[in-house]
Amino acid sequence: MSIATLISGASQLLTLRGHGRRRGAALGNVGLVKNGAVLIADGLIVSVGPRVQVEAHPLARSAQRLNAAGRVVLPGFVDPHTHLIHAASRAEEYELRIMGASYEEIAKRGGGILNSVNKLRAVTSDALKQRAHADLKRFAAYGTTTIEAKSGYGLDLVSELKILKLHKELSTEQPLDIVSTFLGAHVIPAELRTRPSGVNDYVSLLINKLLPEIATQKLAEFCDVFCERGAFNLAQSKQILEAGKRHALRPRIHSEQLSRTGGTQLAVKLGAASCDHLEKINRADIRALAKSKTVATLLPGCDFHLGLKQYAPARDLIDAGAILALATDYNPGTSPTVSMPMILSLACTQLRMTPAEAITAATFNAAYSLGRDKQIGSLEVGKLADISIFDVDDYREIPYYFGMNTCHTTIKRGQIVYSKSSLSAT
Ligand SMILES: [Zn+2]
Repeated sequence: MSIATLISGASQLLTLRGHGRRRGAALGNVGLVKNGAVLIADGLIVSVGPRVQVEAHPLARSAQRLNAAGRVVLPGFVDPHTHLIHAASRAEEYELRIMGASYEEIAKRGGGILNSVNKLRAVTSDALKQRAHADLKRFAAYGTTTIEAKSGYGLDLVSELKILKLHKELSTEQPLDIVSTFLGAHVIPAELRTRPSGVNDYVSLLINKLLPEIATQKLAEFCDVFCERGAFNLAQSKQILEAGKRHALRPRIHSEQLSRTGGTQLAVKLGAASCDHLEKINRADIRALAKSKTVATLLPGCDFHLGLKQYAPARDLIDAGAILALATDYNPGTSPTVSMPMILSLACTQLRMTPAEAITAATFNAAYSLGRDKQIGSLEVGKLADISIFDVDDYREIPYYFGMNTCHTTIKRGQIVYSKSSLSAT
């Protein structure tokens, strides 16, 4: 066994301990321990809780000691919705939107997702990988230790497989965990739009060619669909998600973002892991989510960046008992940020979530939505030592300070993967 590490001296230690997914009032329970400590060995947490108790562990005496020096220690963020692999920004569309064009108008003119598809197809796998490596370093610098990543800017056999293979390669080349999702059903590719049978041809490509190949090569755990006007309708979404399930890919869905399509209730019926966006959900959708194990993943960064006034009804979802998670939706068109702390700030001010609720949604419930709640999302014995340390006195200051990075240190499987300055020994 390698040498153990003992982290102590935190002003607050948030363990997020507890049983199962967090709904309603339980969402606000961050398991705060004052004068707490965490003991790590072989990448796992072997003891956590009050300092005296942790220091009594047999491995503590010989452990390497790290002093959190009055900072706040909590689980690394889990970002359950990103579009990691893309070729370039879409700053030109950002300016067009500011000047008055809507997201849907830009998409109709060949901008939007298709713009990113053209850019991605034009670059090499190596160039995409280089960009993703830099982005993953940035995720770590904001306290994130696991991300979900979707394909969806390839939209043909070769390019979609290229993206999914990159997820796999990147998982072995850098420390953060990447959970891979197939989002071939992002939009219909431009080359098929002019054909009368274009949509059906594309759905058939996804179901008959891509899904079997992805399943054989084990390139994704989840299958996602953008169920929206101008993308995939309810019947097509159902067909694709059911096909994914036949290949053991659990459904996720982009639903009720710009219009109400009924995608949320479809996904709940299919036992989806997560329904994401939800700006346009109605009471019946909220009730369906509340009664289900499907996570409601909110993406306030997207509304903020698009300058939209309507955010998802987080309070109604929490009060009804839905399982809430938060994500960056990192993508070049609608949410170009890797910062979970910024998402927490938006969750607090725009979604009216408390800082504690937002932190639980960005750690434990996010891990649950990825089927990883037994391994990550809280600081508990036996879980991965995925930890972030923030340079604040009080956890509420993580969302309170916005647009600035207060993350001091990020630890993945017991190894420091980001640090502003080294932590002193105690
Ligand atoms: Zn998305």
